[in-house]
Amino acid sequence: MRIIIFGPPGSGKGTQAKKISRHFGIKHLSTGDMLRKAIDEKSELGIIVSSILDAGQLVPDQTVVDLVEETIQYEEFNNGYVLDGFPRTVEQAVAFDDLLERRKESVDAFLSLRVPDQELIDRIISRGEGRSDDTEDKIKVRLKVYKKETAPVMDYYMTAGMFRSIDGTGSIDDIFDRILSALPKK
Ligand code: AMP
Repeated sequence: MRIIIFGPPGSGKGTQAKKISRHFGIKHLSTGDMLRKAIDEKSELGIIVSSILDAGQLVPDQTVVDLVEETIQYEEFNNGYVLDGFPRTVEQAVAFDDLLERRKESVDAFLSLRVPDQELIDRIISRGEGRSDDTEDKIKVRLKVYKKETAPVMDYYMTAGMFRSIDGTGSIDDIFDRILSALPKK
């Protein structure tokens, strides 16, 4: 099972991706987590992307596409995965399609979480993860970037038949139940 979990910052993608990963025994691939790890480890990639994450802007498409391509080659991804935070631009979605085609694979579901804007800001501030991009002004930048660069990815998948819009409000378990009922039965 290959799933993309999609939504604005603060929509609960990470939380739900972890639950999906545990439930189906598939890997959780978060590009944001991988980039933050690279920054913590002060790797070459980390040094390049650090100021971009800090500013709430997007890392260049090719950088994340390469990262995803390298990662899903590992055997533990053969069983499937849930992608969290990728693709984040239409260019990334096109490159990912190309990658899947080369691997003769396809995506089973694109889950788009819907949460009102004000709730997103409140959630990020109250989750208090201490991320350098979680201040109110950076959150506003990230929401702007989401609307301009990332939201069009929905249109890209909307025509493809695997698009599911999920109400992302309410308890974590309620949202997860909605996700389970939206997934294709295998
Ligand atoms: P996230 O943890 O998904 O909220 O991502 C945190 C930050 O990592 C974003 O604000 C971007 O700077 C960067 N990032 C994560 N995923 C991507 C992606 N697919 N494309 C570009 N930048 C990304």
